[in-house]
Amino acid sequence: MKGRPLRRTADIQMPAIILNGKETAAAIKAEVAAKTAQNTRTDRAPCLAVILVGEDPASQVYVRNKKNACAACGFRSAEYLLSADTSEADLLALIADLNADDTVDGILCQLPLPGQIREQAVIDAISPEKDVDGFHPVNAGRLLTGQDCFMPCTPAGVVELLRRAGVPMAGKHCVIVGRSNIVGKPAALLMLRENATVTVCHSRTENLKETVRTGDIVIAAVGRANFITADMIKPGAAVVDVGINRLPEGGLCGDVDFAAASEVAGWISPVPGGVGPMTIAMLMKNTLLAYENRRLLK
Ligand code: NDP
Repeated sequence: MKGRPLRRTADIQMPAIILNGKETAAAIKAEVAAKTAQNTRTDRAPCLAVILVGEDPASQVYVRNKKNACAACGFRSAEYLLSADTSEADLLALIADLNADDTVDGILCQLPLPGQIREQAVIDAISPEKDVDGFHPVNAGRLLTGQDCFMPCTPAGVVELLRRAGVPMAGKHCVIVGRSNIVGKPAALLMLRENATVTVCHSRTENLKETVRTGDIVIAAVGRANFITADMIKPGAAVVDVGINRLPEGGLCGDVDFAAASEVAGWISPVPGGVGPMTIAMLMKNTLLAYENRRLLK
């Protein structure tokens, strides 16, 4: 990054600076590990309970990555692998036990869940104090009203990636494509907290291409390979690709046509190696926060 101008403009064309989520996430996990080492001189380690229902291969990979991140941060992780035909009542009973367990700081139930289980019922059942995914309506409401809360890990990771790369956010126009409860909507609230001016696009947005092209910052969370093309990017913009799409030939790609867009953008995050690792790093931060909050209550 040495020798590059901090502000990139339309008249200075050069390949985009890569928003390296893998490196940034490693730095965050090292910070969490250092804090944990300090805390555990006098106390037990933080503990994250991870529940996986069924054998979805992608979910298995996410759960494994989360478990490895816990180990790297000095946390204990407790895994609950349930069969695909687990009833909602049994899952809710397990969550009630974990809520009551004083040695568990954070609870995460890997989504999606099999059809017989209502996801919202599961999200609602996790104690807001242990809701390290930040999906519980109490945390969502606290985020909306600007209070301290567990921030949803993926959008929090997006903002942290931009912040640590020195991308200006205050006063900038941020265009988010996607309005899900776990990515698009909380990303809009977090970018408002950064004093960005925010536009949220979705499948009914008219003039999508023109709207995205007005973004100084573009956050793509659609779930469609190569959906955001280079002609939709304002020269010099920061482009954060949340999408994870599985290619028929194997491997992953994001929602942005990375090769072409990186010739236009000022900053761009790759897939893999962008938002994915940041999501896990923010989960570790949230788990440490849950642990520290609980220690304060003792
Ligand atoms: P959802 O399917 O819940 O939401 C997708 C959003 O994209 C919806 O708001 C939808 O609009 C919008 N959309 C769909 N088609 C279009 C279109 N043609 N034009 C404009 N908008 C459109 O997905 P998620 O938010 O859960 O995830 C988005 C992507 O991010 C996925 O690829 C997912 O795998 C990935 N992801 C990555 C994570 C990570 O850690 N990196 C974590 C979470 C998700 P509408 O509301 O109108 O239907």
